[in-house]
Amino acid sequence: MEPLTVPTALPLDAGSAPRSDATNSSATWQQDLARAIRCPKELLRQLQLLPQHVPDADMKPDSRFPLLVPISFVERMRPGDAADPLLRQVLPRAAERTTVPGFLTDAVDDGAARKAPGLLQKYSGRALLIAAGSCSVHCRYCFRRNYPYSSEPRRIQDWEPALAELRNDTSVTEVILSGGDPLMLTDRRLTELCERLSDVRHIERLRIHSRLPIVLPSRVTNELLELLSQIRPQVIMVVHANHANEVTGDCSDALQRLLRQGLPVLNQAVLLKDINDSVEALEALSRALVNLGVMPYYLHQLDRVSGTAHFEASVGRGSRLIRELRERLPGYAVPQFVQEVPGQRSKIPIH
Ligand SMILES: *Cc1c(COP(=O)(O)O)cnc(C)c1O
Ligand code: SF4
Repeated sequence: MEPLTVPTALPLDAGSAPRSDATNSSATWQQDLARAIRCPKELLRQLQLLPQHVPDADMKPDSRFPLLVPISFVERMRPGDAADPLLRQVLPRAAERTTVPGFLTDAVDDGAARKAPGLLQKYSGRALLIAAGSCSVHCRYCFRRNYPYSSEPRRIQDWEPALAELRNDTSVTEVILSGGDPLMLTDRRLTELCERLSDVRHIERLRIHSRLPIVLPSRVTNELLELLSQIRPQVIMVVHANHANEVTGDCSDALQRLLRQGLPVLNQAVLLKDINDSVEALEALSRALVNLGVMPYYLHQLDRVSGTAHFEASVGRGSRLIRELRERLPGYAVPQFVQEVPGQRSKIPIH
């Protein structure tokens, strides 16, 4: 498998950026991405931590899934706190190397759902495009950490088989751009792909699943907002934050910019041991989101992917937490607790 790094082969759209507005140019987010931290030692140094403060850290992680975290996200971590919930999501640990029975390479059976290169369909009416093979952050619990991205389409012409499949299947009314992270595409590529999809008349909605507004808020440029508001199908943004501390500072600005553009914004989170598996943490996350206007959508039970067992909180614990959350929050602020079960026709709600 190819490492999930910045796709250097993609053209930089830097030329089209308005130079006067430094915080909103496409040059800025790409520079922010280039400046992301890739070395565990450097990450700990920035947080004023010594390796002995985090004895279970893996200072030389697997080169196929190295440490990757943008500075903006690091700035939302608490210096000197080895148990910081944001740090725990991105710092490689020795436990990733242990094999645990039941934790598999392709836990969600993506292989069986592949309809065409880059196109997965598991559920009726909606299909998922692996729009980009890279991410701006490497979440250690990621269910796609073992996905064979390098065999998925790169250039616009490589999308033809997937587009042909979508054109032929009029039952598909929603296309989910996923990955990797679809907002890793340059505006030019994203526009091309969205235009091709918009040409398919029966596609009513484009859903964008992205963690970039959370971890690399500078990606939410004026150009991106413009691009998303000009697409014919209704665009729905689904972001991914797991802890209230993520939804602060430049991230809350980015989310509000999306909302002010008129885009519905939903959040999905993953239940993660020692990160958000307490009713206080989940309540704080939901409140931070709804106070911005972002609606909690799903809380996912961890997919059992090899190398992630140390992040697992039990299903029973999750459903207890959700019940407690329901007693504390308005109904709209309580996410649906769901699990992906291979072969099922939807994500399965857990009560
Ligand atoms: C999770 C997922 C979806 C989206 O499911 P919703 O319940 O509509 O959010 C669609 N396709 C695939 C392949 C998925 O894994
Ligand atoms: S952003 Fe999403 S796809 Fe990328 S590493 Fe994190 S969880 Fe995985």
